[in-house]
Amino acid sequence: MKEAVDVDDIICNKCGKSCKIDIGYGHHNIEAIEVKHTFGYGSDLDMTSYELHLCEECFVEFTKGCKIEPEIRGF
Ligand SMILES: [Zn+2]
Repeated sequence: MKEAVDVDDIICNKCGKSCKIDIGYGHHNIEAIEVKHTFGYGSDLDMTSYELHLCEECFVEFTKGCKIEPEIRGF
């Protein structure tokens, strides 16, 4: 029997925890919110690139701090 191939882990930049989610039967999913942005001309961070990941938990915390609620759709 073949071993289940696992996905590469991503570590949340905010809490330092793994973004790996156990979906059972030895399989995992990665739920990570990726933020990649290069600030451009006129911004204080002109030409500075940021790249970070947030886990599901930290993302939910972030949305709770929003003054204007994000648009959320469920399936
Ligand atoms: Zn986190």
